[in-house]
Amino acid sequence: MVATRIEAEMRSAGLTQTPRRRAILVLLAQCQRPMTAQAIHHAVVTAGERVGLTTIYRALHRLTEAGLLHAFDTDDGRGYRYCGGRPHQHLVCDRCGRVTECPPDVVALWLSQLREQTGFSPNAERLDLHGVCASCRSHRGA
Ligand SMILES: [Zn+2]
Ligand SMILES: [Zn+2]
Repeated sequence: MVATRIEAEMRSAGLTQTPRRRAILVLLAQCQRPMTAQAIHHAVVTAGERVGLTTIYRALHRLTEAGLLHAFDTDDGRGYRYCGGRPHQHLVCDRCGRVTECPPDVVALWLSQLREQTGFSPNAERLDLHGVCASCRSHRGA
């Protein structure tokens, strides 16, 4: 399922379908937190592929440029998240580092009220809202 969606998104982004790019996207699609290039490299090598870190960097750069990945500043450095092509807003947990997406109807309502009340028309293509996720809130102190 995930692989099919990824292939469709790579096609519509005009990217060549290389096994490596696909492997990186499938890996990141299973992650709740952004992964650094080093961690991705480690996972790919552990899975049995012989690939250099530079190659991983190059693939990540290309995938980010194509809009399929978003980059985040994490405690470990620059992390990548598989996001797919459509516009969305991130909810970033400052405790566990998990990144989820804000429900689109909530954003649409909020943005239209913002426009109505302030006349300001925001560009919400990329929006990071920092805070504490539900699971961290319920495990306070854990
Ligand atoms: Zn994103
Ligand atoms: Zn959290």
